[in-house]
Amino acid sequence: MVEEETLDFRADRDATLKLIDWFDIDRARTSKVLVVGAGAIGNEALKNLALLGVGHIYIFDRDTIEMSNLSRSVLYTGADMGQSKAHTAARRLREINASVRTYWNDGDIYSDLGEGLIRRMDAVIGCLDNMNARLLLNRLCWRVGKPWIDAGIGSLNGHVRVFHPPNGPCYECALPEDHDRRQAVGESCRVIARRQVDQGRIPTTPTIASIVGAVQVQECLKLLDAKRWEGRSLAGRQFDFYGEFAAADVTGLPAREGCLVHDETIDPHLIVEMPKAHSQMTAAALMVAAKRVLPDAYLVLPDEVAVEWRCRLCGAAYPLLRPLPSLYQGDLICESCGHEPTWESEIKLTHKVSANHSPRALLEATLRALGVPRFGLVEARGSNGEVRFLELTGDANQSVIAEPPPVSRTGDSVL
Ligand SMILES: [Zn+2]
Ligand SMILES: [Zn+2]
Repeated sequence: MVEEETLDFRADRDATLKLIDWFDIDRARTSKVLVVGAGAIGNEALKNLALLGVGHIYIFDRDTIEMSNLSRSVLYTGADMGQSKAHTAARRLREINASVRTYWNDGDIYSDLGEGLIRRMDAVIGCLDNMNARLLLNRLCWRVGKPWIDAGIGSLNGHVRVFHPPNGPCYECALPEDHDRRQAVGESCRVIARRQVDQGRIPTTPTIASIVGAVQVQECLKLLDAKRWEGRSLAGRQFDFYGEFAAADVTGLPAREGCLVHDETIDPHLIVEMPKAHSQMTAAALMVAAKRVLPDAYLVLPDEVAVEWRCRLCGAAYPLLRPLPSLYQGDLICESCGHEPTWESEIKLTHKVSANHSPRALLEATLRALGVPRFGLVEARGSNGEVRFLELTGDANQSVIAEPPPVSRTGDSVL
């Protein structure tokens, strides 16, 4: 906090913020916050981050702006129809506050959001509208130990929860008991993924988005100044707002014993930055690089990859090369007999890539084609049992685009 007499309220846009004793403006200016989803809630969260002067705001959203978004999106106008939400939001935030830097990506979070970006953030805000994306973001944040703030809204009610690895519950822990968690993450019930119904339009209002997005950013400030707020944040808890009664409450979320997400937390000392490695290189090329770190290393892919399908009815065999989460029911039909596989047991899967044992097609595939996201981590296991996580650091400068492009500072790192 600064003495009032020393402030210039006419010329200093942050003069009022400097009067707040709990707000560390210098910390905010150097902080990096990733917002995933730039819809109704995302607009509100982003607007608040920019007004508060959070220094580096990263925005992910794959969608483009539609007319129907305008009833709930302060950052978009009628002139923005058809434009990228992430890019438009990044531009608008710079107009709101020229002192913040914004970065955007309008790719798919499944293939473009890697742990390398997340582990360089101070906090992550999830403004998502479907469970699959939340499951993914939860897993990524938990792997690299970054706190994330989830929110959900209807037309009157909304909630916010904060997950703070390695302690307390994660998003999967908090799923209802009767939910088949393993099916949700595609790990046990071996059914080929059904095409996600994640485009459902939940009727929402700007008022509830505004309440929830504000609570998210308030909690984000606490995460950025964690010591000060110890015991007073929403970490491990859920805030509910009931619009019908203008009531709110906070409840604790239990950590669930045996939740596998917690086992995935990576010891940061095992992460090896590989400036020349990127998601467009082949598995074989990464293996060559991996062997300099670990002798006789093989790679463990983040998801199972389907390498062959053998028709259960007529025996015809078809080579495949698809990460399992991207293989949907209806994608495969036997050319000889018209059979459609429904069970994964008909499909040969692998999640290992080894120089000696893997088929050539697998070795020659790019990491991206094998389901490794841009700027992701790839697990390498050596013959001696040692494990390292190879970071595709070569993707760093393509993982987000700075807005506006740095002038006369080409080659500047965006991280
Ligand atoms: Zn959990
Ligand atoms: Zn067949």
